[in-house]
Amino acid sequence: MNRGLFIKTSLLGLFSMTTLSDLEKLTRNFPGTETRMPVLFVGHGSPMNAIESNEFSRGWNEMGKQLPKPRAILCISAHWETRGTFVTAMEKPKTIHDFGGFPQELFDVQYPAPGNPELAVETKKTVNDINIGLDQAWGLDHGCWSVLNQMYPKADIPVIQLSLDYTKDAQWHYSLAKELAVLRTKGILILGSGNIVHNLRLINWNDFNAKMEWAEIANEKFKKLISADDINSLVSYNKLGKEAELSIPTPEHYLPMIYSLALKEEKESLAFFNDKTMGPISMTSFKIG
Ligand code: ZN
Repeated sequence: MNRGLFIKTSLLGLFSMTTLSDLEKLTRNFPGTETRMPVLFVGHGSPMNAIESNEFSRGWNEMGKQLPKPRAILCISAHWETRGTFVTAMEKPKTIHDFGGFPQELFDVQYPAPGNPELAVETKKTVNDINIGLDQAWGLDHGCWSVLNQMYPKADIPVIQLSLDYTKDAQWHYSLAKELAVLRTKGILILGSGNIVHNLRLINWNDFNAKMEWAEIANEKFKKLISADDINSLVSYNKLGKEAELSIPTPEHYLPMIYSLALKEEKESLAFFNDKTMGPISMTSFKIG
């Protein structure tokens, strides 16, 4: 064998060994499927939606019955912000009660869905642009479990969470989210959980549901841009006028929507549900695919 061919063959051997062993691992855990899992964005609103039966929680429950059963769920919640991006990688994520002033009944809720360390590693490997950290400390915050408690009450589907890097802008989050698209072909349900209109400072404490015109206008504006796939306008949300400005005093509840929308393929369908505002909060949600 001449030297050039030898080097080529050895390199090829090495390369195929790594690729094959990686692929084997993947196949064991997350075989490709023929169909692409839908993607959800859910407006989560009050943590009480986790245990109340109301129009929103019934909408989530209905969605859980409608969707093909996922192998696992990757949730991007408004309530996990970090410097850098992390993915939960523990076997048993704890239920985090990250709120105050609610009845004991809500603090008693446990959502014992298993984690999925293999999917955490797979997610880390899928994203090339940044180094995602594997986290052992977080768990499931209420942005995630309040919705899943209604969607999948048996808590029998593994769940991992991806954090929001609070140092980055919406365009950056959009690009990161695009890299997650391949997970849809492996039976993973990607769930963004936030609220596209969310300004707790403007809550009317005498009437939580009092209609606020600016919130209605903003909700309609966002829906139009979402339907039109107008990503450029949506990532430049600070240029969308007064109503949008009031809707997004801080971006953490808005960004999960950007993650979900980034996963939409061209010509894929998008359907809104739970489309309603409650005072300064919009519960508007959508399903892609
Ligand atoms: Zn929230």
